[in-house]
Amino acid sequence: MTKQPYIRLFEEIHKEDIPLVGGKGANLGELINGGVKVPPGFCVTAKAYSDFIAERNLDKYILELVNGLDIENHEQLQIISAEIRNLILTTDILEPIEMEIRKAYAQFQRNLQVDDLYVAVRSSATAEDLPEASFAGQQDTYLEIEGIAEVIHHIKKCWASLWTARAIYYREKQYFDHFDVSLSAVVQKMVNSKKAGVLFTSNPITEDHNQMMINASWGLGESVVSGMVSPDEYIVDKSNNQVIEKHIATKNFLIVKNEKAVGTTKVAVKEFLGEDLVTEQCLTESEIDQLSTDALRIEKLYNSPQDIEWAIDSDTDELYILQARPITTLKEEETNVIEQAQAESNRVSLLRGLAASPGTGSGKVRKIKDITEISKVEDGDILVTIMTNPDMMPAMKKAAAVVTNEGGRTCHAAIVSREFGIPCIVGSNNATEVLTEGMEVTVDATRGVVYQGILEEKQEETKNDRNVESSGIEQINLHQLAPITGTKVYMNLGEPDLISKYSNLPFDGIGLMRTEFIFTHLVGAHPMYLLRNGEEKQFIDKMSEGITKVAQDIYPKPIVVRLSDFRSNEFRGLKGGEEVEPIEANPMIGWRGVSRYISPEYEEGFRLECRAIKKVRDEYGLVNVWTMLPFVRTTWEVERVKEIMAEEGLKQDQQFKIWIMAEVPSVIFQAEEFAQLVDGFSIGSNDLTQLILGSDRDSGILNTMGYFDERNPAVKQAIKMLIHAAHKHDKTVSICGQGPSLYPEFTEFLIREGIDSVSINPDTVADTRRLVASVEQRLILNKLRSI
Ligand code: PEP
Ligand code: MG
Repeated sequence: MTKQPYIRLFEEIHKEDIPLVGGKGANLGELINGGVKVPPGFCVTAKAYSDFIAERNLDKYILELVNGLDIENHEQLQIISAEIRNLILTTDILEPIEMEIRKAYAQFQRNLQVDDLYVAVRSSATAEDLPEASFAGQQDTYLEIEGIAEVIHHIKKCWASLWTARAIYYREKQYFDHFDVSLSAVVQKMVNSKKAGVLFTSNPITEDHNQMMINASWGLGESVVSGMVSPDEYIVDKSNNQVIEKHIATKNFLIVKNEKAVGTTKVAVKEFLGEDLVTEQCLTESEIDQLSTDALRIEKLYNSPQDIEWAIDSDTDELYILQARPITTLKEEETNVIEQAQAESNRVSLLRGLAASPGTGSGKVRKIKDITEISKVEDGDILVTIMTNPDMMPAMKKAAAVVTNEGGRTCHAAIVSREFGIPCIVGSNNATEVLTEGMEVTVDATRGVVYQGILEEKQEETKNDRNVESSGIEQINLHQLAPITGTKVYMNLGEPDLISKYSNLPFDGIGLMRTEFIFTHLVGAHPMYLLRNGEEKQFIDKMSEGITKVAQDIYPKPIVVRLSDFRSNEFRGLKGGEEVEPIEANPMIGWRGVSRYISPEYEEGFRLECRAIKKVRDEYGLVNVWTMLPFVRTTWEVERVKEIMAEEGLKQDQQFKIWIMAEVPSVIFQAEEFAQLVDGFSIGSNDLTQLILGSDRDSGILNTMGYFDERNPAVKQAIKMLIHAAHKHDKTVSICGQGPSLYPEFTEFLIREGIDSVSINPDTVADTRRLVASVEQRLILNKLRSI
């Protein structure tokens, strides 16, 4: 029996002490004892909380309050929660506890030899690290606390935070005994940080265990953890600590110590640190190196990928680790890190490009120019071409990987490869020159590198396969683990057959069904050509068959079918297309989308598309099928197209929704007018970015130079305007471009702006759902805290 039952110094703590000091406290002890630089401190043990509750007879009183509670009654829950928290805050703590805290604090101050000691007081719940009871974020942290009276007060606030409405609700729902969960308070020296953030020792986006991801911003790390700023992002190669990718963010705010009151305050970077720092790279090369080295050590200590909070002290420039916990969302990877590093040093890289669809594939190079050469591609080949087009899809499906000279992350090759789970590198510039016919290569499309020869990772599955196919157990888990989110998480799909592969993913519907895949694979011919030959029934049957397959599979979840959006050059590739399609100089901004539907040269073809939709809804009763109109430019064309649709029996009403894509800037500027004509918008961020920035989405040059970027402030401003305008008219806003599948911080921005749903690639559904849930949770918590 220790002399001090209520206090443990970090040095005295080990990982088995969770019941005493909670998950966070145990981790800090483990880190310090493992030689990691952690700000010093002590824990007020969970026994202090439970003795306080028991000896002051609060348990009986609290139970009475909770037992009579209907937790679904939000108002009642809030009142009871406030009452319990107030009770804890206003009841004196036990004398022995207070004495021990005072003694520890005084000793701590003497050891550190500082007069004005600032500490952080953090909650460390004893059930925190139970996977089935992820309490992360449900208890509070208080920063920049000074003086023993404030410390004691904030320890009590930590105790009280076990009784927030959310925590009570959660425990009731999970059938936890309220008093089985206890709480220790961590008192730790405050790092006066000039920069801080988080680090994941395994890339959480690509799940690549050979990479780390660092997020960094100015001031205290709370700005990053709370999602207040979009931090800089650095992807680091773990074999040599080299940065392989970085995104320097616009960091408008930072959190600093409040000089006028207890705690912290948010200030503008521009005013506090100077304008330059808003866009300046936060971390130096040597800081990244040191951080990476420490992170690897921690990962080794725990023998699993870690999510680490860190800070760099402004006075001493020293790096501190504030917290480390396992990344639970990653899957197992058997790759031996050392073997991997050795293998990497022997690799000869031939080419680099943009990683457009993650995964690795190796095989023989097959270069193709156009449809006449697609038969050259055999199963497992590496398809190399200037740029893919719909004609090449049969060859793409056989390929182990695709590499193109041109294109960005939203080009045809990128979209189709992600749909099929084929590793793909685009915008390599000169793949067709560097790679020779029949050459054996390995395409690492997670890093965007083509290596010489067939390398070990050949057997590695692509990301899609790992996510979806590897085992039934995993599929069930994806569903079971999927958090419920307010923002709907939809999935993009094109190829109807793939629904069986993806149907176990945790999505709420299909937010974009690209019918072009049906045109290419099921119909195979141009609708106007079929009409000319009296074969229109074939079109209606095939198109309705493709849509039915998906709609039936996911019923009653909605499926938003986007009607044809081929450009004229792509329509020409369909059978009979050459006879009926014009040659345009700029098809990307030419006769596409609604402009086509309402012109005499295609109207009849469009009517066939409408009849296919009607057939699915009427004959199969699949009323979960809605429609979406692409490349809308004007309100008058929407009025006209709606007339045609109504004539075909597709009248907009409660049961049948018509959305338009917001991908031409005119829709943003006139969003309120459009909102009165339609049920919803889906942001086509691929085209919208292209048109706002005047940056060809297929230009490899502009893409690699960073011009094409959905995160550009002008694009974000447009999206913000649209969401606000649509919501004024109670219309829903979704997004179906590649942006949220590529950049988590972009998804976070969308949620903060109040988007109603996001529609993403199948390979990011599970991750995005978790991200959406955590951002929503943070928003709710911030709101609750500000009440
Ligand atoms: C878009 O433009 O963002 C979009 C989803 O449509 P597509 O990529 O098919 O043009
Ligand atoms: Mg588009």
